[in-house]
Amino acid sequence: MDYSETLNLPQTEFPMRGDLPKREPEMLMWWKEQDIYNKRLASGKDKPKFILHDGPPYANGNIHIGHALNKVLKDIIIKYKSLQGFNAPYIPGWDTHGLPIEHAAIKILGLNRHQLEPLDLRKQCAEYALKYVDIQREEFKRLGVWGDWEHPYITLKPEYEAKQIEVFGDMAKKGYIYKGLKSVYWCTSCETALAEAEIEYQEKKSHSIYVKFPMLDDQGLLQGIADLSKTYAVIWTTTPWTLPANVAICLNADFDYAVVKAGEEFYIIAKDLVETVAKEVGQSGWEIVQTFPGKDLEGLKAHHPFIDREAPLVFGEHVTLEAGTGCVHTAPGHGIEDFEVGVNNNLPIINPVDHAGRFTQEAGKFTGLKVEDANKPIIEELREQGVLLGHGSVKHQYAHCWRCKNPIIYRATEQWFASVDGFRESALEAIENVRWIPSWGRDRIHNMVADRQDWCISRQRVWGVPIPIFYCKECNEAIINDVTIKAIAELFRKEGSNAWFAKSAEEILPDGVACTKCGHQEFRKETDIMDVWFDSGSSHAAVMEQRPELASPADLYLEGSDQHRGWFQSSLLTSIATKGTAPYRAVLTHGFVVDGLGRKMSKSIGNTVSPQDIIKDYGADILRLWVASADYKADIRISKDILKQMSEVYRKIRNTSRYVLSNLYDFDPATDKVAYSDLQEIDKWALLKLQKLIQKVNQAYEDYEYHLLYHAVHNFCAVEMSAIYLDILKDRLYTTLPTDTGRRAAQTVAYEVIYTLVHLIAPVLTFTAEEIWRFMPKTSDLPVSVQMSEWPTVTDAWLDDQLEAKWDRILAIRAEISKALEIARRDKVIGHSLDAHIDIYAEGELYNFLQELQDELPRISIISTATVHPSPGPADAYNGEDVKLSVKVVPATGVKCERCWNYSVTVGQDEQHPAICQRCATVVKAQPIAEE
Ligand SMILES: [Zn+2]
Ligand SMILES: [Zn+2]
Ligand SMILES: [Zn+2]
Repeated sequence: MDYSETLNLPQTEFPMRGDLPKREPEMLMWWKEQDIYNKRLASGKDKPKFILHDGPPYANGNIHIGHALNKVLKDIIIKYKSLQGFNAPYIPGWDTHGLPIEHAAIKILGLNRHQLEPLDLRKQCAEYALKYVDIQREEFKRLGVWGDWEHPYITLKPEYEAKQIEVFGDMAKKGYIYKGLKSVYWCTSCETALAEAEIEYQEKKSHSIYVKFPMLDDQGLLQGIADLSKTYAVIWTTTPWTLPANVAICLNADFDYAVVKAGEEFYIIAKDLVETVAKEVGQSGWEIVQTFPGKDLEGLKAHHPFIDREAPLVFGEHVTLEAGTGCVHTAPGHGIEDFEVGVNNNLPIINPVDHAGRFTQEAGKFTGLKVEDANKPIIEELREQGVLLGHGSVKHQYAHCWRCKNPIIYRATEQWFASVDGFRESALEAIENVRWIPSWGRDRIHNMVADRQDWCISRQRVWGVPIPIFYCKECNEAIINDVTIKAIAELFRKEGSNAWFAKSAEEILPDGVACTKCGHQEFRKETDIMDVWFDSGSSHAAVMEQRPELASPADLYLEGSDQHRGWFQSSLLTSIATKGTAPYRAVLTHGFVVDGLGRKMSKSIGNTVSPQDIIKDYGADILRLWVASADYKADIRISKDILKQMSEVYRKIRNTSRYVLSNLYDFDPATDKVAYSDLQEIDKWALLKLQKLIQKVNQAYEDYEYHLLYHAVHNFCAVEMSAIYLDILKDRLYTTLPTDTGRRAAQTVAYEVIYTLVHLIAPVLTFTAEEIWRFMPKTSDLPVSVQMSEWPTVTDAWLDDQLEAKWDRILAIRAEISKALEIARRDKVIGHSLDAHIDIYAEGELYNFLQELQDELPRISIISTATVHPSPGPADAYNGEDVKLSVKVVPATGVKCERCWNYSVTVGQDEQHPAICQRCATVVKAQPIAEE
């Protein structure tokens, strides 16, 4: 007789291999056909809302691994919150205006941007952006990210633009918008002003020159000390091209300044820097003839080194002793601090550089030169004039354009600004009331907002939302009020912002609008567009407040940590300015994805890992598991090896689930469950560990610490289930009668385990959880998708401390026995562990403990028989490392039962079934005849 046919061997159709690249698309289809996302939302309609507001990715190019990380994190949160019983809709968004798309469109059209009609270019830009919205949408969906993909928010949509105009109008009405001449970051190759968020610092090699400014007027101060006609204030600069715009020299009133005699000449330099400067310019023998407190130099005047212009000595606190001479060349047209000094001292603001970075007529003999080409001729001019004291080079961190990577300049131009000073205090206060995760985010954004300049909103480009301002054709007064804003917003809501370019001011404005200053009724339109950060920064008003399924403020914003200066900040500023409150209750940031060695990903190093490749090779669930496994608050590594590890862990979770499922093929949770009181102790221990897992996992989700739940789930599957509980269970599950209470008890626990586990992993392993859900025996009240189910709760009654302490001890003993068995196997005393009989030696209380356990030990340790002895073990016994006992392993006596593989002296006793043990014989005889 083939006794294996009388065993309850595991069976399941749940596939061993994940085959995720093939199986996941089928699951996506099914979700779509079943409309699960909307069904889940509908069922949670009356539940409390949880709003995670999506930060819109920029719609150019395919998604990269950083996008995947961001969207998967969001999806994990949304799915967890939904399972927790929240109404958690997810409305994805896209940022679609701005330079990169305009650049791409110009390239496609193959024309110079000055030859293009704005409407043609804008049409191309819109097509380009919407194409990538579609591409990215499919890529995000493939990651298993759920949301209202059919109705995303897109910043180029008319309804969005209209709302953005209203936000701008609201800010203007409150007096927060002004036009001013200002030194702004300016990219000469992109020909536009840049926001602070669009600047990145890179090393640059620059000229380093020391220039002598002849003193013109010393107010009598130098009398008897130095010959005025041979005295110079010495400045240092790394941007010789800014010298044509020089209008002053700035000193620090708190420093001491020295008059230095150098040969026939006298130099004015901060006293503490004299030595350094002498060394830098390669001179020696300098002698300090007099020192003055800086404030004594007030009212002195120098002369520009090559232009007929005075350079008065003024004061500024930004002058330091860290570098240079303590006498700072000041060109208010080319620097933010210089600009402030200029305003404070009524200096002229000279800006001899045009939008493309070329010198204008104002620069005299340098007219027409590009600023980067002007350095050398200017240095030459200084040399000819005899005022170049020193010339070298310096490597330093210099601001570059984040788009084209070229070094930027500062340039004073007329720009529209949001006056951050108008609402800075409220913004700082609001920051205090937001939860920042990790907590250092609070200081980071606080400092950025506290220190920031006013927000330059103007861009001299075409692809964006126009700045909604008219100018009087007669007196040039800027017109913005409720009437104009309403007219523009309504027009945009109907026709989109293209209408600004297609229509004249008269066509846009209602009849009768007159200049508030002169009464004239003809206007021209502003040609600047808004900074794209204003677009996305208006989403709280244009999306959260508009869509009925959402609410404001959002519960959570979640983006990369670079958004403290980007979207988190622009959203905060527009929200504070218009509503007085922050747009979010909590802000979570993640780091950036780096390669396995911690290096930034770059195409030139060839270390990029694309989400598309991961999905093709491993599947989205492996990528999602990687997201969960990482402590994403710092930078996150990814590599082939890391993905292989992820696959291993995935396989462990999958196999554990599969094994549990395979033992539930004849279990109906509606009728076959065994009461807790009828469970065996080891079953209760498994339930206890399961409750602890829920607790740990809940905590991890609540704290957004997914790596903790990743480890907890992996450990539970690998250790508590595979290595302990399921291992011990095999004999009970396979060899008893199918309906045996012990077997049903084991199945009851197995069911509890898989039911709980499938929920705990559902937010992360979203495809696999759904697959498990399909193969799980279910009661009729459970929904078709695990995502529509409810989160499991902890059963406190199962958290039995005494039981846990007892079983921790038993498992420690089991571990010692396992080590002894391992040695015996190695020494060929036994083959399979069931071949073994063990003698255990212990004394005192431990002996008593073991004695009571004697009958359980074979099943717990998966051996045939065990005897406990109240004495020290023989010399050749294994001595426990962590528990004070000895174990001697010998071959079991009796004969191996063909059915259960245990050795037993009862094998042969049954006449009908001589090859099996008594226990098995009883089961076989009681079994219903298999119908075949
Ligand atoms: Zn640029
Ligand atoms: Zn006017
Ligand atoms: Zn047997």
